[in-house]
Amino acid sequence: MKASNIGYTRPRSLTQAFEILAENDAAVPLAGGQSLMVALNMRLSAPQLVVDIGELEELSQFSCVGDTVVLGALTRHRQILESELLREKVPLLPKAAAHIAHAGIRNRGTLGGSLAYADPSAELPACAVALGATIVIGSLQGTREIKAETFFKGLFETDLQAGELILGVKIPVIVASTSIAFAELARRQGDFAIAGVTAVATMAQAQIKSAQFVYFGCTDFPRPANRVAAAVMGLKSPLAAGAELDTAVGQDINPSDTAGMRGDTKRHLATVLTRRALDQLFGSEARDV
Ligand SMILES: Cc1cc2nc3c(=O)[nH]c(=O)nc-3n(C[C@H](O)[C@H](O)[C@H](O)COP(=O)(O)OP(=O)(O)OC[C@H]3O[C@@H](n4cnc5c(N)ncnc54)[C@H](O)[C@@H]3O)c2cc1C
Repeated sequence: MKASNIGYTRPRSLTQAFEILAENDAAVPLAGGQSLMVALNMRLSAPQLVVDIGELEELSQFSCVGDTVVLGALTRHRQILESELLREKVPLLPKAAAHIAHAGIRNRGTLGGSLAYADPSAELPACAVALGATIVIGSLQGTREIKAETFFKGLFETDLQAGELILGVKIPVIVASTSIAFAELARRQGDFAIAGVTAVATMAQAQIKSAQFVYFGCTDFPRPANRVAAAVMGLKSPLAAGAELDTAVGQDINPSDTAGMRGDTKRHLATVLTRRALDQLFGSEARDV
């Protein structure tokens, strides 16, 4: 199947993009096209006009300002994967980007597109929440900022309003006392996650002082798993087998049955991945999934 007849325009500036989006209720932005073009070709979406923002210089920032990394919305997955700056300052992002699809998709797909699309199985939205990122949004009315943990509202649903674009993301630099973890299970390398978890924790004397756990693939949208965060406080390596953590995972996520997999199987997988993530936080990466 191919897309129906759709108008196409490529604005020359961000202001022009805002103007076009403000004038056309039925216009949608196109960034890397790796999700939108699929939806158009399958006729799951039928906008009147596609506004190609994919070459806008204003959305391509990639820098570290003080203790904050600032990434423009057009940062490609491949840039995230290959960036020395991110490896040093926010290593969770390249670690996660290695699990996104395949080289061709990573070459085109963008950070802003991934956040705006809010696929519940996507890696970067979960990382943005775990890292305490701030999403910068713009429109003809000006700019506003929103924490990632309040940006995601539901299944494929965000706080973005008509006429708005994600401009970029601000991410705090990881400090020495912080430990990160990322564990994902997919059918094949590069497939969307069946279940995944990412965690950012503050450690002291090899003990978890505070942590943010965020699940993807097994929940409808990325948000802090507060019960798990409470259950891991004070934990040390080696982990004792205990029901408390498993109960907490079950309280934080409630995956529904999908074709070929029951919700309780996904919950079990999430529990296994949580233990792997804890191994990573303690610096003993037992297995990489
Ligand atoms: C075969 C395949 C496998 C994939 N596997 C994975 C995977 O394992 N993990 C994963 O995370 N992703 C995966 N993806 C999706 C890929 O990461 C996409 O690149 C990403 O989800 C969307 O980014 P994009 O730049 O391509 O956005 P587009 O497809 O251009 O746009 C997606 C949506 O976001 C909106 N949008 C885009 N940019 C902005 C912006 N700046 N402001 C506001 N709205 C905006 C668009 O209007 C559209 O609704 C896969 C895609 C394919 C085709």
